[in-house]
Amino acid sequence: MIIDLRSDTITIPNKGMLNAMMSANVGDDVWEEDFTVKDLEKKIASIFGMEAGLFCPSGTMTNQIAIRVHTKLGDELVCDKLSHIYNYEGGGIASNSGVSTRLLDGENGILSLDQIKSSTNPDDPHFPRTKLVCLENTVNKGGGVCYSMDSIIDISNFCRNNNLFFHLDGARIFNALVKTSQKPIDYGKNFDSISICLSKGLGAPVGSVLLGSEDFIYESKRVRKSFGGGMRQAGYLAAAGIYALDNNVNRLKEDHDRAKIIYEKLCNCNYVTSILPCETNIVIFEISNIYMRSFCDHLDMNGIKYSLLGSKIRFVTHLNFTDDHLNKVIDLLSSFKLI
Ligand SMILES: *Cc1c(COP(=O)(O)O)cnc(C)c1O
Repeated sequence: MIIDLRSDTITIPNKGMLNAMMSANVGDDVWEEDFTVKDLEKKIASIFGMEAGLFCPSGTMTNQIAIRVHTKLGDELVCDKLSHIYNYEGGGIASNSGVSTRLLDGENGILSLDQIKSSTNPDDPHFPRTKLVCLENTVNKGGGVCYSMDSIIDISNFCRNNNLFFHLDGARIFNALVKTSQKPIDYGKNFDSISICLSKGLGAPVGSVLLGSEDFIYESKRVRKSFGGGMRQAGYLAAAGIYALDNNVNRLKEDHDRAKIIYEKLCNCNYVTSILPCETNIVIFEISNIYMRSFCDHLDMNGIKYSLLGSKIRFVTHLNFTDDHLNKVIDLLSSFKLI
């Protein structure tokens, strides 16, 4: 049995999702004729109370489009040093938008208003013009931790009063919503743009949606085309996204519960030297240096796949990770013994 805990992107569509895809009503979306894509964009925009949405091939593209639309050459954005937009998007902030990045050192990727306040440049030609604040929720490299709505509102008010755009990398926003019982509408009210992945915990094979005002999405559509993201009969993929929104949101709690069980087990393993707080579906931990090699061998030999973040190990639970898998993982964590 192979148990894949590398990422929540590895899930395979089930029969229900495949049927929804195969029976999708499609057209050429670059010609604005794919009504399944339009349905998906409207559906997700209305969940968040935003004016419009734009379906794109990836979350990297939705983030990069947002950065391009909100900024001009030579501007600066502010984000946490763990953020996906900085670490995992191929240097796109610089190469796609010519924008510099002010990296802040938040708490497991969660920024405070004070940190953001003190990193905003005054209007002086010596400095890049601070134009955009980007948050990530949940924070991937921070172990899937969530922002409180209070701090989002505080940062949002600060941005509005200081002419800063406010973008959310909400790749795993539904994990945060299920965890915290925050309202999606409050996200829509407070951010200028939101990027949402359908291909993470929601289990669609491909796709992300960018949300914002009508004007913002109008501009975003131009940028999407120039990035090569205009898709033709994309309704086959959008249908998977609609199915995911209808069927795979509430079940995220199961992923969180299973991650918590793994987290609690690891807290009681004497070979674990540190572990990040576990709020959603991600568990990030470190093994004592001298045992790291044999621990990884133990996982490898027993068919457990994981990802490495530097010296840390990451497990991500998802809809293809079952209770049987969980039991096997727990047993293997128990059977690893220090010599
Ligand atoms: C996965 C992810 C993205 C987007 O990744 P793609 O693979 O390009 O869809 C963006 N932000 C975060 C935090 C992610 O985890």
